[in-house]
Amino acid sequence: MLHHDFRRFLDTLDSLNPAQIEDAQSMIRDLGQKTEAILEIEERTNQDLKCPVCGDVRRQKWGRTRTKVQRYRCTGRQKTYSGRTGSAIGRLHRPDLFMVALRDMLGPPHRSRCVNSRGAWDLTNTRSGAGG
Ligand SMILES: [Zn+2]
Repeated sequence: MLHHDFRRFLDTLDSLNPAQIEDAQSMIRDLGQKTEAILEIEERTNQDLKCPVCGDVRRQKWGRTRTKVQRYRCTGRQKTYSGRTGSAIGRLHRPDLFMVALRDMLGPPHRSRCVNSRGAWDLTNTRSGAGG
């Protein structure tokens, strides 16, 4: 999924009801944080066959990275790259944390931070809400 689409996906989470959130939680657990991240990374190189650095379409499979992502070797530059190269998550050494963050967002709300929009009580947010 492209970064932009992913942001939109996150935005839609706001409109889920509690039952749907639970469904999404269990689904993500089942998917497995690491596997999902790797599949997403590889999908990128499957859709875009060009070298992310020089744009050369000539490439050959060149083993896998430590995180088990397919690696390619650019024929033009004689250098290797993977789906992570040049991507929004390319600089992360732990792409699996990408999914941990997502799972965290879907997790149950932290009680201490829970803001009651009906204004019943709001002990943690005493300094805000006075604007207007
Ligand atoms: Zn290249």
